[in-house]
Amino acid sequence: MKIYKADLHTHTVLSPCGDLDMTPRVIIETAIDRNLDIIGITDHNSTRNSKVIRDLGYESGIFVMTGAEVNTREEIHCLTFFETDDQLDEFQLWLEQNITVIPNSVDRFGYQLVVDADDNILDQVDNMLLMALKKGINEVEEHVHELGGLFIPAHIDRAVNSITSQLGFFPPGLKCDAVEISSYGNYDDLSERYPEIRSLSVIRSSDSHFPSSIGESATQLLMEEINYREISMALRGDNGRGIVS
Ligand SMILES: [Zn+2]
Ligand SMILES: [Zn+2]
Repeated sequence: MKIYKADLHTHTVLSPCGDLDMTPRVIIETAIDRNLDIIGITDHNSTRNSKVIRDLGYESGIFVMTGAEVNTREEIHCLTFFETDDQLDEFQLWLEQNITVIPNSVDRFGYQLVVDADDNILDQVDNMLLMALKKGINEVEEHVHELGGLFIPAHIDRAVNSITSQLGFFPPGLKCDAVEISSYGNYDDLSERYPEIRSLSVIRSSDSHFPSSIGESATQLLMEEINYREISMALRGDNGRGIVS
């Protein structure tokens, strides 16, 4: 088995708060530069830039986990990942059907751009992608798993938009494939306050909105090789795979 370096939380030009430099090519080039093996593309409530980055990564030796950072009805951010285009398309449709529709203010939040591999703008999303879905965290988790995806509550230590900030507790029955702690989060403090996380794998990611922060925080995955199945097993700690701290 080998150790692979993954930063599973990266935004693109599609996220309103994502820098306009966060184009597919820049993200992949920066990932190579930072010696990452795997990146996750997780725009707010949309998967629409993830496939193009996956394809670009494939040509460059960077494995891309395609998904989104969902904002639940409780305003909890959760990372979600899917393996196939069919799963991604179905999830994208579900996101569009369930997001609270409010027009984006470009002046206030920035552009939300769907782009191709050459930075051409294919579409501009008019509704604000930061809004909450009409679905609660349990419904999101169930739907993601029904589709065969991965569900990871994001930056659970943060004072806003985290499972702990919004609920004040960690729901014991929630089926998580892992949990994410932000760069400066303290695991010992968290696991003391929320013992439910002790049985879960913990990832750390950069939550990059700018190229300079890609790979600043990362997770080391112990696996046989890089593919979606191996990454899923490493996140869950199955079959000898796991996360190396
Ligand atoms: Zn977030
Ligand atoms: Zn994020």
